[in-house]
Amino acid sequence: MSLVVQAPARVNVIGEHTDYNDGLVLPTTTALHTRVRARRRLDRIVDVTTRTLDDSRTFNLDALEPAAESSWINYVIGVAAMLADSGIALRGASLEIDSEIPLGAGLSSSASLELGVALALLGIAEQAVEPAELARLCQRAEHQFAGLQCGIMDQYAIACARRGHAVLIDCRSLQTEQVAIPGSVALLLVDSGVRHQLPDGDYNNRTEECRQALARLADRVPALTSLRDLGPEALEEHKSHLGDTLYRRCRHVVTENGRVQQAVAAMRDGDTAKLGALISASHASLRDDYEVSCKEVDELVVISDRCPGALGSRQVGGGFGGCVLVLVDAREAAAAAGRIASEYTRYAGATPWTHIVQATDPAKEIDS
Ligand code: ADP
Ligand code: MG
Repeated sequence: MSLVVQAPARVNVIGEHTDYNDGLVLPTTTALHTRVRARRRLDRIVDVTTRTLDDSRTFNLDALEPAAESSWINYVIGVAAMLADSGIALRGASLEIDSEIPLGAGLSSSASLELGVALALLGIAEQAVEPAELARLCQRAEHQFAGLQCGIMDQYAIACARRGHAVLIDCRSLQTEQVAIPGSVALLLVDSGVRHQLPDGDYNNRTEECRQALARLADRVPALTSLRDLGPEALEEHKSHLGDTLYRRCRHVVTENGRVQQAVAAMRDGDTAKLGALISASHASLRDDYEVSCKEVDELVVISDRCPGALGSRQVGGGFGGCVLVLVDAREAAAAAGRIASEYTRYAGATPWTHIVQATDPAKEIDS
């Protein structure tokens, strides 16, 4: 028995660092895929080759522990462990992984890998798990086996995508609403070339800061269970108890949740100028309040914003490098990609990778 699964990349239109605060996010996907080819094995071994990293590992389904060193295989073992924990009887398999997604560039190659592996292992075991539950299970794998305290956005976006749409996710209720992306605009990705190291870097530090802020506010703001519930007035009222850094972290979360709601309305109204302004405001907040940008990304945003046809731009994903997302008039998208790339080349000394987003299907089995 053999099968092929493909899982898209996640492109977050707006709503950054709000998911682990029970907030709102508006991601889409693009037609860049992780592909997993799977063949059944008759024993309890899973052997895995990644063409992307040119590496191979094996593990035993009866000993699902994280590898000692931090390694890509932990995403795969983690997914197998979480499936097994949820009562799925897994079977041995050979997995061959390939990816078109730039790694560590803010497009969630990790969640794409998790969903691809999860569907491949389920297919081999002739089992099924509904998409929302599968997303939660992959998030747990990333927490427990890759050590990143990520929110639910990436896995959910990739599991629950719809072609041509972004999905509004309420990360507390996990209710979703599909929102059509207006045809008059394109989403352009330009890679700054700077790479983050999320599990070792500042991402977990930001989740920790949000926890600290919540703890400081808990006895002052009644019934506050997450920063999602913090309104702008309460934030200002309790500013002095937070101190400058935690106050600015909270201000990002509070204002970003508001921007997601406004962005949904703008998309529904076809108000693309407003959508662009919100995307730019999101970047300013990530740069100044949440402090997850870097100088190369900031420069790329400046370059993108002055390009003809551009309506707004921002860093996409967890931060500390990776891609900038540019909202651009659809007729200008190809020309804008060329212009921005050549101007950034003069700044950075290397030509950046560019890509025009095609919002696509969720992770799924395909014909081999
Ligand atoms: P992002 O999800 O933004 O791309 P992360 O740091 O969260 O960045 O995840 C990148 C990590 O995911 C890589 O370092 C690697 O361990 C793993 N990964 C993603 N895609 C692949 C792949 N095709 N093959 C092997 N490992 C992968
Ligand atoms: Mg990731």
